[in-house]
Amino acid sequence: MSAAAQARAAGGRPGFLTLLVANRLAAFGLALLALLALAALLAPLLPLAPPDITDPARRLLPPLSKGHLLGTDQLGRDLLSRLLWGTRVSIAVGLSATLVAAVAGSAIGLVAGYAGGRTDNVMMRGIDMLMAFPYILLALAIVAVLGPGLMNALYAIAIVNIPFFARNIRGVTISLAHREFVDAARLSGKGHLRILLSEVLPNVLPVIVITMSTTVGWMILETAGLSFLGLGAQPPQADLGSMLGEGRKLLFNAPHVSIIPGLMIFALVMSINLVGDGVRDVLDPRLKSGALSRPSAATAVERTHVPAMPQAPSPAALDVRDLRTEFHVGREVYKAVGGVSFALRRHECLGLVGESGSGKSVTAMSLLGLVPTPPGRIAGGRVLYRGRDLLEASQAELRTLRGGAFAYVFQDPLSTLHPLFTVGDQVAEAIRAHQPLAFRAAWKRAVELLELVRIPNAAERANAYPHQLSGGMRQRVSIAMALANDAEILVADEPTTALDVTVQAQILKLMGALQEEKGSALLFITHDFGVVSEISDRVAVMYAGRIVETGPTDEVLAAPAHPYTRKLIDCVPVLGRPERRLDAIAGLPPAVNRLPEGCAFAPRCPHAEARCRQGDIALEGFGPARAVRCIKPLGARKAEVS
Ligand code: ADP
Ligand code: MG
Repeated sequence: MSAAAQARAAGGRPGFLTLLVANRLAAFGLALLALLALAALLAPLLPLAPPDITDPARRLLPPLSKGHLLGTDQLGRDLLSRLLWGTRVSIAVGLSATLVAAVAGSAIGLVAGYAGGRTDNVMMRGIDMLMAFPYILLALAIVAVLGPGLMNALYAIAIVNIPFFARNIRGVTISLAHREFVDAARLSGKGHLRILLSEVLPNVLPVIVITMSTTVGWMILETAGLSFLGLGAQPPQADLGSMLGEGRKLLFNAPHVSIIPGLMIFALVMSINLVGDGVRDVLDPRLKSGALSRPSAATAVERTHVPAMPQAPSPAALDVRDLRTEFHVGREVYKAVGGVSFALRRHECLGLVGESGSGKSVTAMSLLGLVPTPPGRIAGGRVLYRGRDLLEASQAELRTLRGGAFAYVFQDPLSTLHPLFTVGDQVAEAIRAHQPLAFRAAWKRAVELLELVRIPNAAERANAYPHQLSGGMRQRVSIAMALANDAEILVADEPTTALDVTVQAQILKLMGALQEEKGSALLFITHDFGVVSEISDRVAVMYAGRIVETGPTDEVLAAPAHPYTRKLIDCVPVLGRPERRLDAIAGLPPAVNRLPEGCAFAPRCPHAEARCRQGDIALEGFGPARAVRCIKPLGARKAEVS
């Protein structure tokens, strides 16, 4: 119940417990550990014989004897009672040692990693000295100095485990110590201690917890080892190690005396390690996003709505019908794309416009199965290309299309270009992935492409690494890569958003010119109506995963029909008209896992009325070439049309 509540609170992400229990081994470990811990905790309340009372008349009774469920030991003490009391001691000592080691080791690691320089050097060489000894030998030496006893065994175990924490935490701290948010805290005048506690510590806490959960089992085992050698718990007190040590002498006459504590140590340490591994998997940031499996090479297609195949092949270069893409995270279903249809004609640029989060990128990625699964899946629709449905295509087919007939240009060229290869290498590689060319020929072609995208001095610039180029030049390189194989369909996902305005204008001009020259179809994604008006012939406006208006760009710009389009257009500043008020759209787009009934824009729409909040509102024709998903479009001329 609480796990479900947590999942809901975290926006549909499954909670810690849900994830942990989803891992079957960890769930088994957790159940076993809970059982053992409960039995140990309840030992004082259970009707057990006192653990330390000897009874020589009833020595070495076998298990299942009357009054002694697990039998008795060589002094006639009840084994079940000693076992539970001993487990209490072992768990308590193991946990305390872990805590001591974690606090001391983490403190050393944090300070060393944060301070760096000489402090780091001195502290880490000290830790290295501790690590130079085999740790069980070191523990023996420490107990030898301190004298035998449970507390001393605890200190010894804690001390020999400090290096593990110190080294782990130092490593993470070093990588955090110069991150921007720490610098920002420093600039705000915070002291070192406060920065360590409020900025660094919360970020290393998961690592501390992971290290604890994976070492606590070992610490219990090591404590048992010291007790086994007679250096830990002293008679008559029992812990699991000392019970095992005492029973060892009777291994042949009364094997149960040693086997029972042995099994208990095994069960305890195994269950703790299983839980520890599970905790690590859940807390590891790379695995945290929900599923413990990696995304596969193509989006899963599990369609519930499949439109019929058209009779005649579509004249468009790409015909998308009722495409639906969902993300299943925990129990929540995010309908990122909820039935999108558009046709992309040859020689045409279609602008896909909408606020951030409206599903534009997911639409573009769905075309070639590029949405990660899990959590994504395509739940319906068809993507028709040359009379084929790409949602039915095999992985191999998709691979030949990607970068071949379909090319993508993404928003941030710095993160899409490989930092270790020259841009010439990367363009040549894109060519060679689809054409049987020798490297020299591909390089020559790459230089031609770089010239085509107007990179000055292309032959020399081909030898530059991405970081040596400016943002605009890098985006030109990405475009050159997209053009490398004469793509029929170019998908540009906010290609100019990361660039400044003058460079943006150049890139737009270039893309428009190239698209005309090559005759490819261009799907141009942006959130900016200003950009759309520059480049696209037609626009499709997206809101909350659906297209709400489409039509020729100039007509839509001149007289938008959907109130949302109107608002988007009003967000674009006009040069030379500073008196025009820029209107931000009030409110936020709806969460796609809880879409309202009726029009998704109704809650923010100034013209909304009761009918807008009911049923499903269809995309209807509006003029000869336009369509709008609104029951009372602006400048309503709907009646004339139909
Ligand atoms: P944009 O229109 O800005 O390109 P996107 O297509 O990237 O928007 O995202 C559309 C919706 O899909 C958003 O609500 C986003 O939260 C959701 N989404 C995108 N990727 C994932 C993912 N991997 N897991 C869950 N939800 C996602
Ligand atoms: Mg996007």
